[in-house]
Amino acid sequence: MKYYLLVFSLLFLVGCQTTDNSAVEDQVENESVAVVEESHSVQDATAQQDEQYEKEVRADGVPVAWTDYSTYAEPNEEGYAYEIHPDSDISSEILPITGSSSDVLLFSFDDAPQTPGSHALEMAELMKSKDVNAIFFVNGMYLNSEENIDIIKQVHDMGFEIGNHTETHENMRELTYEEQYYQLKTTNDKIEEITGEPVRWFRPPFGLYNSETVSICNDLGLQLMTWSFGYDWMDEYLEADPLAEVSLDNEYLRGGANILMHDRSWTYGALERMIDGYREMGYHIVDPYLIQHQRNVEY
Ligand SMILES: [Zn+2]
Repeated sequence: MKYYLLVFSLLFLVGCQTTDNSAVEDQVENESVAVVEESHSVQDATAQQDEQYEKEVRADGVPVAWTDYSTYAEPNEEGYAYEIHPDSDISSEILPITGSSSDVLLFSFDDAPQTPGSHALEMAELMKSKDVNAIFFVNGMYLNSEENIDIIKQVHDMGFEIGNHTETHENMRELTYEEQYYQLKTTNDKIEEITGEPVRWFRPPFGLYNSETVSICNDLGLQLMTWSFGYDWMDEYLEADPLAEVSLDNEYLRGGANILMHDRSWTYGALERMIDGYREMGYHIVDPYLIQHQRNVEY
């Protein structure tokens, strides 16, 4: 097992060096681009509330997985089957704890709910209809209107996990300890007020953080995760067809990959093909509620 982890970590480090730098630069450039989409209709989603399920919550306050994981996961007594390395510098990929399959992919969506023009609800509805669960990482600054709060509430009520992506999408490395604490704590409080559940995951904007971020995450009970690959913010992939193609055929796609997407129209357009394509390749899209949260390694 140790040997396996080492090989896995080395593989990731190699991938990390080539992806992260360019990914960060591209994201810095593109995340400020204003996206004007057709206005979102809340009515579309209210019909979905009929399908709201009775949430089963375990002793630690985390809901149990609701997708059909019987073909790939063997959860332990607490209902967990996977973990993410507690040092996100090493890996944010999804590793089996028990005898579960390693051919899993995690779907995660940042910058939700995009304002204006969120597609978070439609994406959640599509995934729900295809038995897929995912994490939506929200920015606290978007949770300041009734409409947006309602979007995240509905996404959560459908069974999706909500993670923390800071209050105002700052580069954590440029902030003081107090400023970072404010960014994480304020958004955590807003999410918990909506979901009534502990927030387990933090994704730093641009994938950038420092030792203070890690320490604050531990104070707030958050595990920090970056990602393995993502393309939907790069100029050449701002349309559904090329985005679906590159997402299904790139050098970083392998079991355990943590896939970064955003709340964008072209991502919504590519999503069904991605789900079907990954499944045809033999991958399972892991239910995040199967992933056991851990304390981060501090440095
Ligand atoms: Zn972001």
